[in-house]
Amino acid sequence: MTPEQKAAKAALSQNKNQVQNKNQKQNQNQAQNQKQGQNPNYNQAPNQNQNQNQSSNSKRGRGRPKKTGDSPLRMIPLGGLGEVGKNMMVYECQGDAIIVDVGLSFPDESMPGVDLVIPDFTYVIENRDRIKGIVITHGHEDHIGGLAYLFKQAIFPVYATRLTIGLIEGKLKEHGLLDKVTLNVVKPRDTIRLGCFGVEFINVNHSIPDACSMAIHTPYGTLVHTGDFKVDYTPINGNIIDLARFGELGSKGVLALLSDSTNAERPGSSGSESVVGVSFDKLFAQAEKKRIIVATFASNVHRVQQIVDAAVKFKRKIAVSGRSMENVVNKALEMGYLNIPSGVLIDVDAIERHPDNKMVIITTGSQGEPMSALTRMAMGDHRKVRVTPNDCIIISASPIPGNEKLVTRVINELLKQGSEVIYDKMYEIHVSGHASQDELKMMMALTKPKFFIPIHGEYKHQCKHAELAHSMGIEKKNVLVPDIGKVIETDGNFLRFGETVTAGKVLVDGLGVGDVGSIVLRDRRHLAEDGLIVVVTTIDRETGQILSGPDIVSRGFVYVRESEDMIGRARNIARQTIQKCIDNNTREWGVFKQKVRDDVSDYLWQMTKRSPMILPVIQEI
Ligand SMILES: [Zn+2]
Ligand SMILES: [Zn+2]
Repeated sequence: MTPEQKAAKAALSQNKNQVQNKNQKQNQNQAQNQKQGQNPNYNQAPNQNQNQNQSSNSKRGRGRPKKTGDSPLRMIPLGGLGEVGKNMMVYECQGDAIIVDVGLSFPDESMPGVDLVIPDFTYVIENRDRIKGIVITHGHEDHIGGLAYLFKQAIFPVYATRLTIGLIEGKLKEHGLLDKVTLNVVKPRDTIRLGCFGVEFINVNHSIPDACSMAIHTPYGTLVHTGDFKVDYTPINGNIIDLARFGELGSKGVLALLSDSTNAERPGSSGSESVVGVSFDKLFAQAEKKRIIVATFASNVHRVQQIVDAAVKFKRKIAVSGRSMENVVNKALEMGYLNIPSGVLIDVDAIERHPDNKMVIITTGSQGEPMSALTRMAMGDHRKVRVTPNDCIIISASPIPGNEKLVTRVINELLKQGSEVIYDKMYEIHVSGHASQDELKMMMALTKPKFFIPIHGEYKHQCKHAELAHSMGIEKKNVLVPDIGKVIETDGNFLRFGETVTAGKVLVDGLGVGDVGSIVLRDRRHLAEDGLIVVVTTIDRETGQILSGPDIVSRGFVYVRESEDMIGRARNIARQTIQKCIDNNTREWGVFKQKVRDDVSDYLWQMTKRSPMILPVIQEI
């Protein structure tokens, strides 16, 4: 045994128990893997990946059957590019594949009535036999929210850190999938073996604890997939981003860096989470006799911890409002990620029993979401909390682009109730969870990648990030700005676009997944913009004559009482058209309806310059 092998063996036995099995299914899985000569606990020795690089051919010939010959390493983005949300990436090599993150995004104004949006899983389902597992960077919805929907079509084992697994468990439970899926807890610096991939988890800072980047060791070299990250030298839990490991990887050679572009337009650094705690202290001191209400993201456990710490310092009790806040606080308490001294947390029903200056309410709704607790408080619609002039309300988040109007509306309403509202840049009450330019450059400087691929963000963020890479001396031909569905290929020497695979948005509306397509959306937009007119006519089946109607029902078009004349005339036009069809012996209902639609629509357009959706209904009796 060479010294190198000895070191590898030592590292392996040291880390033997690091990947804990969440249930017995994993043990079966493990047994299967071992049968195939793979060890899921495999911990890659630091040098091994370079050796692999040099002797990739001999390695590929050994043990596992060669499936795709010398095909290049493929990266297949299925979401999270040209958008913020639904992050999902497939990596493929020698016939094996892994998935990094399966997220969701929230609908924009062009999708009325849609609850959420998930990636198109077609490619994954078509290649399901090759997928060895799913690794998850962290527990935000845009990285885990699509899992339950994927698992309704195909199930794969999941690997992630402890809190992330805890949050995934919650999701799977909601969908009744918990006992069907193997969930594996991984610790930072663990490497798991999935086919020809060795996936190493590396601790990073972000706006949720337990976030990780992945170093993906492949026979072609090492890829670094950052996930969402920032650099925080004074994080709340003390776990500073593992810069040393990124540096080590860089000095051994990183083939490609795929890095978070969300804040690529922002110069400087994003700042430490602990800055927010200092602001809370100041604001809590100022609030004196007032009740304090703080709205933030439920998943930002460190932020919640800082609110708790300030409350404890100023001898206030804490109540939690909003379903997602209650869920995350309970989960974080149960798992030990949140520390609240006993007796401090009270039920939201009991807030009346405590004087205002002894209360802090932590709530959801920092984005002005219409159904959230803070919005309900602002609209006087919250069942437990009534906002008064004696409230100091802190919105500890910045609006995500697109949510500004909603947030402004909530702030206006709160101010109308006479309360004090502290938001945005008034104090340092929020720091971003994503790396700004200096941090992004640091990541490039440490990993020294040959190829650079900006991920996570709108197209303009990706382009800005690509520019940063050029400014750091990465050659233009070695940078690709990817798009979803467009396969990226590399053999270690070149980086290029390959084929395009099926990718896109699948809309989820209630229980329906993917059944809301472009036609349904077009109708919903039409209804939302111009309203609806229903023309109901009853016709005698025998004689073909009008028995009653046409009656006109209008919704969201005009205020009927003030437009009786116009509606009356529209009714006459419909009657004439129907009578004409009857006289011409038209029994083809499709033609019948189209004629009514055209004539009524023409008239209403003349009168109002609006074109409501017109729905002719013909009943035969
Ligand atoms: Zn995130
Ligand atoms: Zn994200």
